[in-house]
Amino acid sequence: MDYAVLRKRMVDSQLVCRGIADARVLGAFYKVERHKFVPEELSANAYADYPLPIGENQTISQPYMVALMTECLSLNGQEKVLEIGTGSGYQAAILAELAGEVCTIERFSALAQRAKVTLDELGYVNIKVKAGDGTLGWQEEGPFDRIIVTAASRGIPSPLIEQLKEDGKLIAPIGESFSQILTVAQKKKGKLETTGICGCVFVPLVGKYGCYA
Ligand code: SAH
Repeated sequence: MDYAVLRKRMVDSQLVCRGIADARVLGAFYKVERHKFVPEELSANAYADYPLPIGENQTISQPYMVALMTECLSLNGQEKVLEIGTGSGYQAAILAELAGEVCTIERFSALAQRAKVTLDELGYVNIKVKAGDGTLGWQEEGPFDRIIVTAASRGIPSPLIEQLKEDGKLIAPIGESFSQILTVAQKKKGKLETTGICGCVFVPLVGKYGCYA
């Protein structure tokens, strides 16, 4: 299997065609080996246009959704980014290509451990992975320039708003358990100004500030 060919085809037919235009973002997707982040038996499907199971009933998001969320964060290479929902670690790797430092939290320790092994093997030195409840944020590492939540909730957990820098950006799927709006928020004078981007479906954010009752 020529993964480089599959990767180029993924970028051209799923990302560029749908309007992802930031050359740095596209460069990261050309580079990061998505097949290393999915279970071995699914590696032939790693570049397909849909999410894939990664264990613990969780999924690695569709490539386009990862790209759209990344582009919305408008990263220039210097930022400190917090990700909630490490999953496979793929989104964290994309972010690490485009930002200064990435801190990522995963509620399932088996997934956090596997992601850490994958990211270490690929040589990332600017990613910290932690197992725990990401709705609490990561106080010791904050404040953050950017926060990305890759699991769905009804609202943005308040600790994340507190740990976001003034003028910082946050992106999260917000809505009901089977249908959300991908929402970008910017912190202005301590409050979030939000914009809806598109409809989306993510697995639920399960934690102190995030679960669907
Ligand atoms: N970004 C991932 C996809 C994640 S799917 C990737 O690139 O593969 C969403 C992940 O969020 C799941 O792994 C799920 O276990 C995790 N999650 C859900 N609630 C969480 C919480 N409160 N804290 C941390 N992780 C959480």
